[in-house]
Amino acid sequence: MKKIVSIIGGGPAALMCAAFLDPDKFEVTIYEKNKTLGRKFLVAGKGGFNLSHSESVINMITRYTPALFLEEALLAFDNKHLRDWLLALNIPTYIGSSKRIYPEKGIKPIEVLNSILSCLEKNKVQIKHQYNWSGWEADTLVFNSDVRVVSDLVVFALGGKSWAKTGSDGSWLETFNSQGVLVKPFQVSNCAFGVNWAQEFIEKHQGAPLKNITISCLDKCQKGEVVLTRFGLEGNAVYALSPQIRDLFNKSNKAFVFIDLKPRVSASGLLGKFKNSVCKKTTDILKNDLNMSSVQVALVKYYVSKEVFMNPTLLVEQIKNLKIDLTSCAPIQEGISTVGGIALDALDSNFELKNRKDTYCIGEMLDWDAPTGGYLLQACFSMGVALARSLNNS
Ligand SMILES: Cc1cc2nc3c(=O)[nH]c(=O)nc-3n(C[C@H](O)[C@H](O)[C@H](O)COP(=O)(O)OP(=O)(O)OC[C@H]3O[C@@H](n4cnc5c(N)ncnc54)[C@H](O)[C@@H]3O)c2cc1C
Repeated sequence: MKKIVSIIGGGPAALMCAAFLDPDKFEVTIYEKNKTLGRKFLVAGKGGFNLSHSESVINMITRYTPALFLEEALLAFDNKHLRDWLLALNIPTYIGSSKRIYPEKGIKPIEVLNSILSCLEKNKVQIKHQYNWSGWEADTLVFNSDVRVVSDLVVFALGGKSWAKTGSDGSWLETFNSQGVLVKPFQVSNCAFGVNWAQEFIEKHQGAPLKNITISCLDKCQKGEVVLTRFGLEGNAVYALSPQIRDLFNKSNKAFVFIDLKPRVSASGLLGKFKNSVCKKTTDILKNDLNMSSVQVALVKYYVSKEVFMNPTLLVEQIKNLKIDLTSCAPIQEGISTVGGIALDALDSNFELKNRKDTYCIGEMLDWDAPTGGYLLQACFSMGVALARSLNNS
């Protein structure tokens, strides 16, 4: 007899698990509280839709925090497996100049979602919309307060807490906690960070990018781009420092980053440019000889004293290591992802809750972190597939 599997939540982790469960062994139903599935997946598709990253799986494994926690799942279903699987669903992908993996140009996010859904249809996966899971009564699942469902296996894939309007609102945390499941409070990740800019400065420079910089916090240094905004700093390079910046805020309520505005040239190389310049004014040297953009020059002027600005040695030190104090993380709703949720210690290596047999948790609802660039979705896909395969083989 087939086992009954209830998958709760209808995001990418859930869909992949359902797509890979063996229809000869399992009768699978997805319960989603929204009227449609994959709303956050579609939101992700509105920006650059990075389905994954093309780097080697060995490197990819190291991008996740805690280190190595996804090793097995990623080795079993990596970025190449994902591309092959999508191609078989008629969704060809390509690797962009950033090395990220996108659906071929012209393929809309909804088409990717629909292709995955058609795969579920073939596997006879049932989908129940507007089923809001509210807790357990003993081993029975309760939806919408009064609908009860009994199943052999339960897979939770409820997502994190950012962008709550997509359905992933983290409201389930207390329900798990009250059942003795180890949980961690949610915190925002891959988000903007506040800077207390002077009004006059930010009026002039909001929206300006700092390109080809490195930005560092604690032991992490990230190449890329950040954008100055009214709130502070945003962009891939600073998003990637979220774990380190969060750590500083958690420990002392104070956080800061250092920006190297000219990472490709050493301090002595920059000083050489000063010495060899035919320009008289420092601003002209910065623009003409150091090739700094107007916003880079304005930022340096904003932070350094006149004395430092007029002293090439001290000025170069600042250009290579400009300290920016941060005031706060962006509100949790605005983050691309969250950490917190179900603690990894609450699960065994097969994503099964240690204190509740036959109950599994996957996806962003678990307490892990990864930078943007396709790592978040790849993790959710890999966890879904890894769990499905282990259930197929059990
Ligand atoms: C603006 C934005 C852009 C992004 N861009 C990218 C990107 O380009 N690349 C990338 O890798 N990642 C990106 N992400 C992150 C990625 O979308 C998420 O990490 C991923 O969707 C998480 O998948 P999931 O299946 O774990 O959860 P989710 O996709 O959050 O799905 C969880 C589902 O569970 C449902 N649910 C929640 N509670 C209940 C309940 N009680 N009962 C029933 N159903 C419930 C929700 O309605 C939701 O449909 C982006 C995120 C955002 C917000």
